[in-house]
Amino acid sequence: MSDTPVSPPKTTLSVVIDGQPHEATAGQWVIDACEDAGVYVPHFCYHPRMSSVGMCRQCLVEVEGPRGPMMVVSCMTPVAEGQVVRTDTPVVKRAQEGVLELLLANHPLDCPVCDKGGECPLQDQAFSHGPGESRFVEEKRHYVKPIPISDLVLLDRERCILCDRCTRFADEVAGDPLISFTHRGNNTQVLTFPDQPFASYFSGNTVQICPVGALTASPYRFKARPWDLDEAESTCTTCSVGCRTLVQSSRDEVVRTQGVDSDPVNWGWLCDRGRFSFEGLTSEQRLDEPMLRTDTGLTTVSWSQALEAAAQLIRDAVDEAGPDAVAFLGGARGSNEDAFAWAQLAAAIGTDLRDAQLGDGLPAGVFDFPQATIDQAAAARTIVLLGPDLKEELPVLYLRIRDAAEKRRTRLIEIAPRATGVTPLTWQSHMALPGTQADVVREVSAQAAVAAQLASGDVVVIAGRSNLAESADHVMAAIAAVLEVAPHATVLPVLRRGNVRGALHAGWTPTSSNPVEVLDRAAAGRVGCLVLVGSDPVTDVPDADLARRAMAGARRVIALDTHRSASAMSADVVLPAAAAHEKAGTTTNLEGRVSPLAQKVTARGTSRPDWMVAVELAELLGHDLGFATLEQLRRRLAVTHRELGRAVAAVATADAGSDGALMERGAAGSPAPVEVHAPPRNSYDFRLVVSRRLYDQAVGTASAEHLAKLAPGSALHIHPSDLARLGVADGGQVKAVGIHATLVIGVVADPAIVRGTVWAAINQPGPDIRVLIDAHASITDVRVESL
Ligand code: SF4
Ligand code: SF4
Repeated sequence: MSDTPVSPPKTTLSVVIDGQPHEATAGQWVIDACEDAGVYVPHFCYHPRMSSVGMCRQCLVEVEGPRGPMMVVSCMTPVAEGQVVRTDTPVVKRAQEGVLELLLANHPLDCPVCDKGGECPLQDQAFSHGPGESRFVEEKRHYVKPIPISDLVLLDRERCILCDRCTRFADEVAGDPLISFTHRGNNTQVLTFPDQPFASYFSGNTVQICPVGALTASPYRFKARPWDLDEAESTCTTCSVGCRTLVQSSRDEVVRTQGVDSDPVNWGWLCDRGRFSFEGLTSEQRLDEPMLRTDTGLTTVSWSQALEAAAQLIRDAVDEAGPDAVAFLGGARGSNEDAFAWAQLAAAIGTDLRDAQLGDGLPAGVFDFPQATIDQAAAARTIVLLGPDLKEELPVLYLRIRDAAEKRRTRLIEIAPRATGVTPLTWQSHMALPGTQADVVREVSAQAAVAAQLASGDVVVIAGRSNLAESADHVMAAIAAVLEVAPHATVLPVLRRGNVRGALHAGWTPTSSNPVEVLDRAAAGRVGCLVLVGSDPVTDVPDADLARRAMAGARRVIALDTHRSASAMSADVVLPAAAAHEKAGTTTNLEGRVSPLAQKVTARGTSRPDWMVAVELAELLGHDLGFATLEQLRRRLAVTHRELGRAVAAVATADAGSDGALMERGAAGSPAPVEVHAPPRNSYDFRLVVSRRLYDQAVGTASAEHLAKLAPGSALHIHPSDLARLGVADGGQVKAVGIHATLVIGVVADPAIVRGTVWAAINQPGPDIRVLIDAHASITDVRVESL
């Protein structure tokens, strides 16, 4: 072996682009090097987040070769040392004009009525790089137009230029190859398969990246023209991934959201729930005036009447039984500033009873483990999945992890109670009966191959609630079990609610270890005034019976909400809150990244940002929170919660750049170990697994016109062998008997279910599976009987 030192590989290459020297990055395509050098090369099929296919041939340039200049497609030609590239010669110009003339031969030129008109790359490049006139005089190709290919997307095949972007996205990025090319030669067209709609959770991305108006979105079709639109960059808070978005409005109404490419977060992609939930902003379900309960029901009142009434309810509760008679639930729907203001109000009143998680999260101790970011997870050698079905609950995180598994050879080890959307991507997938995750981690890691894999490099544990019908302690115990065998592992907690991490860091961390203490106290009649800050326990708490008893047991309820949720409609005082896109602030995603929220439209009716309501209520109660403006609030936040406050300040002053600011990590420790056991299963019973589907009855989604109908509905999934044993046919009805209630529900034979367990999605139209869940049980067993 030679001792000669090896020089590190050269990462930059010297090239000449249009006569100018340029340092390109090794491995780059010529088109990207040109872009970096400030030279635009026209293109349609090329997309920097997908593989190059050279389909449209629009990006032709000349490259100097050994036998003189050569015409190449710049999206498939790598840069090379000393390469000379020309993008502006007469030959290149003629070639690009020729390609455009061909692309337009069959394009219908219905720009005046096309949604894409005014922002269409084909239109723009026809002007900038086209021939000026066409030699084609023949009749253009005609197809029926448009055809709905899903509930959200319409296809206009005449306009398609066969660039392969939508098909590549569906196949490569989303893993849902539901749209493809069909027919041959001149008749080639893009289409879905017979009887199979384009039912991908990511279909809106194809509309965004289609370079013409061939794919359009039902919620935006004919709503506005690009020149009508105002826009602002913001962050999606529908779940906790925190995708960056461009929010576009017309006449003070949000009409579209587009994905923005944030390298550490969403790479430009959005899921359809996040993309289209803006429709809920203008729904009939929105609250626009304060209301007060009278003998005849809820009556509209002025803000001052409502606030005075709310203050009086809090005063009465404190006078009667002390500050702990006031309890707060919620805080994760709004901004960091909103969460902080309400946590400060709770502190001023003197109560510790505040809970941002409604029994569906993890103990805040999960942040005591060494933390990982999304990027670190996507670059890790091994990911251990102890969380929910990422495709259903955190869809764009799923895309990042999918990319890691498909391209970077990251190995996924999944330990889950049922097969998930991630299962096909895993290196090993182990189905664990509820309550046995930690045992399965120990068993699996005892395998030599797994032990070697865990020792081979970075390990990130993606941890969240895979089962809402078991105690969160099982997840904490399983994380600790991974750290026992891989002490270098880090943890990416995947708590799902929009700004739950921000709320927890802004003071919504309960001091009690009881995850549902607020609900328990309310149910026991020990809460004189329950304050709901953007939360809907009636619909969202996994234990429906506890939620019902808590709402009935709380003597008075104040609800601050954006929509007429079931809980808000049963409150004594209802305060309308400004929703996302109606107020400025910041939000924190699941990895602790703080990003800005933009106000794009006027708040609905007289609704106000949550933080402002907290300030006014505090004033009426005789407390000075120490801030009256957002700037003052942020200064106070920086003093009270240093790590979150600093990140918020960096984002608010735009120091952080468009990717936001990652909160500083505190010193990593290890939370107190938890002892948790699952009682043995009676062989007649089934262990219950409950988790979320992407579309459900959450009020923000259910009030969005095009998303409301996508919730699949309630059903009990059961393994076909278990179903046969019960003597029930697939699609039949059964009786599911729990401790508190019995439910009659339809069954679906599902081989993805572990034998001896049953699975149902929460919060779906139809029978409510939550009536079978006991928030205090380690696991939930149900007896299933034929009717
Ligand atoms: Fe390209 Fe649009 Fe045609 Fe898909 S529909 S191939 S994105 S032009
Ligand atoms: Fe919004 Fe979450 Fe979807 Fe991203 S993954 S677009 S944050 S709902």
